[in-house]
Amino acid sequence: MVFADSHTHSYLSFDGDAASTPDAMCRKAVSLGLTDLAITDHFDTNAREMGYGIPDDLRMEEEILSCKEKYKKDLHVSYGVELGEPFEYPDRANDLMARHNFDFVIGSIHNLPGLPDFALIPFGHPEYTDEKIRSLFEQTIKEMVRVIEYPGIHTLAHITYMERYLRKAGRKLATNEFREQIADLFKALIAKGIALELNVSPLARGDDYTMPDISLLRLYAGLGGELVTVGSDAHKLEQIGKGIKEGYALLEAAGIRYVTVFRDGKPHSFHL
Ligand SMILES: [Zn+2]
Ligand SMILES: [Zn+2]
Repeated sequence: MVFADSHTHSYLSFDGDAASTPDAMCRKAVSLGLTDLAITDHFDTNAREMGYGIPDDLRMEEEILSCKEKYKKDLHVSYGVELGEPFEYPDRANDLMARHNFDFVIGSIHNLPGLPDFALIPFGHPEYTDEKIRSLFEQTIKEMVRVIEYPGIHTLAHITYMERYLRKAGRKLATNEFREQIADLFKALIAKGIALELNVSPLARGDDYTMPDISLLRLYAGLGGELVTVGSDAHKLEQIGKGIKEGYALLEAAGIRYVTVFRDGKPHSFHL
């Protein structure tokens, strides 16, 4: 039985917890009985402009690859990265990708060009009308199509990321209004052989939703989508592995029979 956390951050991410060394993360994963742990620190190409901070990637490589060797009998460790907004500064993404042989590359978006991280948008302010929110999400879908055009992406992360911050302002994302655009995004993923991520980070933090939700997982399944990675997006040791099994149950309920895990850059599908 596979039990894989395919999205986690170490202390090398600017927003990672100081106690989350790759070694401590692997020990935690082994103690939980995980079969796979992907350590996927943030590398947003616009980090300099957005003030995100980027990891010391040489240290990142050294620490994670030494864990991969040290724990190989008990755990498949993936040397991963969460590549944010690769289309904004593709030269920076190319430079990183040329210097590292990543096992697993997550593509994601944390902000729209020219706008702050969704985490910093005051969605409770009256300026953020429903119409404005709809237009931001519509633009996000378009930008995600650009993310997966970047070569080497294995999975597309948290497609409803902005929902996390809408909910904090007591609002919700009406994804049912965008089923056509999201279906086109899913078709592009399927055609390219890129996986969809089920990000269960809200479950790991005591909330009751996932990114995306079951209705979008059903849409993906209905289009023939079969490649789904599941990640806790842990930024602390205690979040590792949390919500993963609930995520597997959600996949089954959505009609998806497999979970996909990347090992050494190759997808492996396991029957749920
Ligand atoms: Zn992210
Ligand atoms: Zn992340």
